[in-house]
Amino acid sequence: MAFDYDLFVIGGGSGGVRAARVAAQGGHKVALAEEDRYGGTCVIRGCVPKKLMVFASEFAHAPTEGQAYGWDLTLGKFDWSKFSKHLNTELDRLEGVYRSLLKNSGVDSFDARARLKDAHTVELSDGQSFTAKHILLATGGHPTRPDLPNAHLGMVSDDIFHLDALPKSVLIVGGGYIACEFACILNGLGVEVTQYYRGAQILRGFDEEARGLIAESMRETGINLFVGTNILEMVPASEDHAVSHAGTASDAAMGAPAKDSEDLLPKTAKRDGAVWVKATNGAENVFDAVFFATGRDPNTKDLGLEDVGVEIGRRGEIVVDEYSQTSVPSIYAIGDVTNRVNLTPVAIREGMAFVETVFNGNPTPVDHDLIPSAVFTQPEFGTVGLSEEEAREKEPVDIYCTSFRPMRTAFAGMPNRVLMKLVVSKATQKVLGCHIVAPGAGEMIQMAGIAVKMGATKQDFDRTVAVHPTMSEELVTMREPMRSA
Ligand code: NDP
Repeated sequence: MAFDYDLFVIGGGSGGVRAARVAAQGGHKVALAEEDRYGGTCVIRGCVPKKLMVFASEFAHAPTEGQAYGWDLTLGKFDWSKFSKHLNTELDRLEGVYRSLLKNSGVDSFDARARLKDAHTVELSDGQSFTAKHILLATGGHPTRPDLPNAHLGMVSDDIFHLDALPKSVLIVGGGYIACEFACILNGLGVEVTQYYRGAQILRGFDEEARGLIAESMRETGINLFVGTNILEMVPASEDHAVSHAGTASDAAMGAPAKDSEDLLPKTAKRDGAVWVKATNGAENVFDAVFFATGRDPNTKDLGLEDVGVEIGRRGEIVVDEYSQTSVPSIYAIGDVTNRVNLTPVAIREGMAFVETVFNGNPTPVDHDLIPSAVFTQPEFGTVGLSEEEAREKEPVDIYCTSFRPMRTAFAGMPNRVLMKLVVSKATQKVLGCHIVAPGAGEMIQMAGIAVKMGATKQDFDRTVAVHPTMSEELVTMREPMRSA
């Protein structure tokens, strides 16, 4: 049977665009449909604008540091509208880059929503329909709100880049990547940030010592972080609402309930669009905005998956095998829609492995082991491999760990601390995990990740000469384990 295309990709995010481009460059006839903007979550409403916001927010510390170093610096006002205009210009440019990458590779792209009609046919919202030998689903995911009355009053991460103005106060709900990153960003930009996390400590699943230091640092910078706390009730704020305050950062550290203090009242009770929130700790507050960072779900609705027989998992994700093949042999899926490891570089890898498997005759399973990643909190968190808690469940380990005030900010009298930690197998001396909480940890962990992926031992780290004076030199100079576990 002759098909219109060798490959039809649904979704123009990082994974879909890469797979389409590489397949087309290999001489295959490829089409791609995207209903929204090219670049997907990462470029348009995720990693890229988020990182630019991180950069913007970090300038808040510049005067304190600069003054200690002899500069005459004062912090002026942050102009959100100026920044967001520049941000949007940059996103337009990047979207253009994605479009031209596809065009220059010979991919036919369609600005339309696509739906499966059968195992080899895609129907577009503009009425066109095409057949393809292979179909790749790369539709990504979307942020979700909790199942709570009036949850629509809260925004989600997609909304944050479209604000006309920054709120004066915000309640962030959640303790994952997005919640913690935006708590730090918005705090840096001058927003009064309160964060509720329902569990005992933020960043569940990561190394406990690292989580602890990040939480402590976040509180030190003025974020009112409450653990073991969630929203009980939320309604549009009215002038009748009695307002107590969210408590202080040190109360939050102790898990203490809110206190009454006029001085600390959010001064937002009469603001339009403000939300009155009753928390599980009894506190009642009015916030200018509520931001739900309570997770993301795969985009699998209205794609025709059920009609065609593509298996969908419990969380709505497309079920795939190690080659990203779905239960329908001609249909593959990559990226967040498969809810494996929801990171841009992983989706790109999955796209490349798909092309290698399907078009280059070289079956390539996706390697999801030892993926380095970073959480762009302030300080940043870079991590690869097992946490201390995960590792000690598997085998006896030695923990090499140091926490100290780094030279740069210590000179400025700032309290910031960093953490360098190695989790080492007692039996093989292999470094099973590396965890760094420090400015620039994302950059550091990329390099440490190579060593860990190669199976480096503690002795390999030890025989590497330190780069002095740096923070990361501690990774190669820790001689004695702090403890065994
Ligand atoms: P996460 O799944 O990481 O975190 C969701 C958070 O919301 C958790 O703390 C969870 O609590 C909490 N939560 C879930 N449901 C509720 C509820 N009903 N009420 C209160 N709290 C709730 O999701 P994110 O949205 O932060 O991020 C999604 C994914 O995006 C990440 O897993 C990551 O893969 C990716 N990402 C990566 C980034 C990076 O690489 N730097 C940056 C941003 C996103 P609990 O822990 O108890 O389940």
